[in-house]
Amino acid sequence: MTTPVKQHLIDPEICIRCYTCEMTCPIGAIEHDDNNVVVNADVCNFCMDCIPVCPTGSIDEWRVVETPYTLEEQYEFDELPEQAEIEAAPAGGDEGEADPIAALLAEAHKGAGGKARAPLTAAKPAVNMYTLGKPAKMKVQGNYRLTDDPSHDVRHIILDPGALPFPVLEGQSVGIIPPGQDAEGKAHLPRLYSVSSPRDGERPGYHNISLTVKREDGGLASNYLCDLEQGSEVEVTGPFGSTFLMPNDPNARLLLICTGTGSAPMRAFTMQRQRGGATGGMTMFFGARTPESLPYFGPLKKIPEKILRQHLVFSRLPDADKEYVQDRIVSEQDEVAEMLGDDRTHIYICGLRGMEEGVELAMTSIAESIGQQWTALRDVMRDEGRYHVETY
Ligand code: NAP
Repeated sequence: MTTPVKQHLIDPEICIRCYTCEMTCPIGAIEHDDNNVVVNADVCNFCMDCIPVCPTGSIDEWRVVETPYTLEEQYEFDELPEQAEIEAAPAGGDEGEADPIAALLAEAHKGAGGKARAPLTAAKPAVNMYTLGKPAKMKVQGNYRLTDDPSHDVRHIILDPGALPFPVLEGQSVGIIPPGQDAEGKAHLPRLYSVSSPRDGERPGYHNISLTVKREDGGLASNYLCDLEQGSEVEVTGPFGSTFLMPNDPNARLLLICTGTGSAPMRAFTMQRQRGGATGGMTMFFGARTPESLPYFGPLKKIPEKILRQHLVFSRLPDADKEYVQDRIVSEQDEVAEMLGDDRTHIYICGLRGMEEGVELAMTSIAESIGQQWTALRDVMRDEGRYHVETY
């Protein structure tokens, strides 16, 4: 019998094909085809560099196997295989000596970090319907500038899949394939954008999707998207993501924390909750440089407070100190503490990776103020599908 080993795998249902893990792996153990991103068991040395960079947690999957899944097998996965039964190690040695197989299985089950889960009442998402080899071709229905700041061009781009089925849920992402080839003559990899429209489209029944895109200096995909003209055709992969989803429960309360274009899924959540008549309410902490660079500033002002309580936080106002979302969370700690103490509350964090640390610190002190330990509370919320992070 071969000795069982731990194998690192990627969950194809949760992975959003951002390829960050592949770009991060220092030894080239991660690769992809048109369908999946996979880990080469002969190369992976469990250095864990890929774990913290994954925005979804799909990278944190482990199985104990007698024969590792080959790359070919992993490319065919639609979902991860269950952990197979592995025979316990033969008894022997001192009494009480740990069974190494049981230890491996326990370690594999736990994962390196917490596992993201969808809210219990979320709708079931469709994932990976359109791939690199078979993208959906969508028509540009509109491309509107959202920001007045001349140095901060953020666009609302509406794409129409036409007769193609392209079901998306709020919080899911799509890949955009920039046309042309890279320096090595290979097709460009898709760049990932969160969908900012609700499930049935910009207007109910239209089934189009919108994206929120900031023009980045020298950015291949962002400049391509921001310059798109109405009627042009775009190649789209996805939809991706099956955990950063909203609860369908109308009584759920949402605590939304975002920066800049990380507001994209929050817009989708807000529109869907408005359409569905949700009563649980939402509170949003939204950070931008100035009002002129905050996407959707105008439309946001029209949303009643009983649907969305808004804390718009600015870091570059000419006559005020720099303020970040985490600063405002602390100054509004009573409101946040009350929400943390309510098990109907779901937390969503989206935007700059840098804000995560600040938000963690803020939550730690607020949780303490209600006699709770934040990391323990966060882990419970994550297990219950009530804590979601997507930062880049
Ligand atoms: P940005 O305009 O550069 O920044 C937004 C705000 O965040 C600014 O006020 C900025 O302050 C502040 N900020 C900077 N560092 C921070 C920190 N450590 N903690 C808290 N706030 C901080 O944002 P952006 O260019 O729109 O970027 C948003 C990010 O969201 C990007 O990384 C993007 O990849 C990601 N994202 C986008 C989508 C999407 O679909 N579009 C989805 C998910 C995530 P300063 O004045 O200090 O710069």
